Amino acid sequence: MVEYQLPKLRVAGSNPVARSILFGWPPPSAQAGRSGAACIPGQGMRITRVAPGSDAERAGIRIGDELLAVDGRTLEDAIDLTFALAWMHEREAVFELSRGGEPFSVTLPAAGPGELGFEVREAPVRTCGNSCVFCFVDQLPRGLRTSLYVKDEDYRLSFSYGNYITLTNLSDADYERIASQRLSPLYVSVHATDDAVRREMLGNEDAPPILESLRRLDHARIGVHAQAVLCPGINDGAVLEQTLSDLFALGELILSVAVVPVGLTAHRQTLTRIEAVSATAAGGALDTIERWQKRFLAEGRDRTVYAADELYLRARKALPPYDDYGDFPQLENGVGLLRSFEFDLNKRAGLLGDRLDPPLAVTVVTARLAEAFLADAIDRALGGVHGLTCRVVASDNSLLGPTITVAGLLSGADMVGALKRAPESDAFLLPAAAFNDDGVTLDGMDLSEIADGAGRENVVATHDIVRSVLDLTGGAVPDAATTNRAASDNTTRGREPRGRIPSEEGR
Ligand code: SF4
Repeated sequence: MVEYQLPKLRVAGSNPVARSILFGWPPPSAQAGRSGAACIPGQGMRITRVAPGSDAERAGIRIGDELLAVDGRTLEDAIDLTFALAWMHEREAVFELSRGGEPFSVTLPAAGPGELGFEVREAPVRTCGNSCVFCFVDQLPRGLRTSLYVKDEDYRLSFSYGNYITLTNLSDADYERIASQRLSPLYVSVHATDDAVRREMLGNEDAPPILESLRRLDHARIGVHAQAVLCPGINDGAVLEQTLSDLFALGELILSVAVVPVGLTAHRQTLTRIEAVSATAAGGALDTIERWQKRFLAEGRDRTVYAADELYLRARKALPPYDDYGDFPQLENGVGLLRSFEFDLNKRAGLLGDRLDPPLAVTVVTARLAEAFLADAIDRALGGVHGLTCRVVASDNSLLGPTITVAGLLSGADMVGALKRAPESDAFLLPAAAFNDDGVTLDGMDLSEIADGAGRENVVATHDIVRSVLDLTGGAVPDAATTNRAASDNTTRGREPRGRIPSEEGR
């Protein structure tokens, strides 16, 4: 379910084209094909909550009603409603609904985002027709919650939440809508611009030519954040070189490209055999990426092509400096995450002062990949704070296997084990990224179940160590506290977050 507050969508982010929606662009006249379409009961969005005392309640809207249109424009999904709310800012609008198949309408006064007082159910998610050789969903063990097995491929989620799509299920009408509503940027899994290689990777002989699909978006002035899931022997080497060359030639359409290593779990015995990204393969990809970064810079653009942190760690190469990541366009794809964490930690460490009194010992739980980096960064940033002892405990991934080493994919059971092994501490900090918006891990455990399972108190899910320490010591906390609550910070909203429970990314 989605409560229609504009800031919950990516449109409220930093992209000026997307942000224009907030100010009513494009104008209603640009919504060709949507205005005046039939409002058919049964095809609207179901109202799932009406806030007591709200304008919606006063107007007579009830739970179970169907929202069909606003000011004569039919609504298909969250994006349409976002546009509708943008049009009605500072003036009233007519909402067309149905109840038990009977249409009716109400007029609601001007309202800001989230002020109308109702929630509606999201439109059904479109799923993919691919069978990617590296699909992470196919590599999950059985018995996890059902939402983890959904193979979404929905341009609306790409626009709203940054989910990666392959552009393999778009109709002409979809492209027209993307163009007319300027749904930009979109997040596109390119993998390879060689169509034969790409079709093999997608397991889809009918996948349309990727460069043609991208040019259609370019024609509509849609920006694209692209990614390539690196599969050794398939799309590395000369194929990666060609891919980056083709994306470079597309010019301003391509806002960024992330190259991320394929993630291989312990549950792929019956799937296509894929090599893991070795240190040599990671080093080779980094050489290619860094060469293309120079080409982009030479054109007066930013680096544009970025490698996931994991590639540097696997290749045992130093991460690029913080400034090299620009505005961190692929952070949720694991690109620049460690430098961003380090930067924030250093910036905020001063909030703790020189001394904690009374002293505090905390244990930070993470996965193997970032263990050394994290321990080093914490030591450098917080080592001088007298009275603060901060230790790092890393866990293997027993749910997905030893090759999955990112903190965001740790299971609750893994964290229970790590907490049991951890030294005595006043508090225990778990990675917020391992929890979804409902505050549960891949294996369905919440924070209190993990704390109880380990017999530990003061267990916190956070991505902000300084804020958590301040919270625990009763210090001045700049933002909301995080202790013992669901890990809703550091997450995308309303969907399984990409950075943690990937499907399309294959990691
Ligand atoms: S990786 Fe994405 S596009 Fe490919 S099969 Fe899985 S869900 Fe579908």
